[in-house]
Amino acid sequence: MPSFSQKSEERLSTCHPDLQAVCRELIKQYDFAVLCGHRNKAEQNAAFDAGNSRLIYPQSKHNAKPSLAVDIAPYPIDWSNLMRFREMLHRFDALAKLMRQRGEIGSEFEYGADWSGLKDYPHIEMKTG
Ligand SMILES: [Zn+2]
Repeated sequence: MPSFSQKSEERLSTCHPDLQAVCRELIKQYDFAVLCGHRNKAEQNAAFDAGNSRLIYPQSKHNAKPSLAVDIAPYPIDWSNLMRFREMLHRFDALAKLMRQRGEIGSEFEYGADWSGLKDYPHIEMKTG
């Protein structure tokens, strides 16, 4: 059974309990890495400068505490294989639906891979408001 690296575990622990709950179920059936949970001001603005985020602090859901967004990637990571990202997100979404039905989580999620225009394949965020 796959399990999180210490880095992934540290990053995941900064995320909202519902994001953590789905990730902790998904890792039992699919190996993936947690790239990012909470981002502080310096980290967010560095991500913006590097072109990895479209938002400056504190507009990103990664800036909330706990983080309302998580970035994940299939392990081992291959950025040229977007089909694997799609498969991972499909599994995440199916698990999230199941866990909502069971009452284990209350949140709904939005996927950066579904955004029109610039897609953010690793990005999953909680729908709010
Ligand atoms: Zn993100």
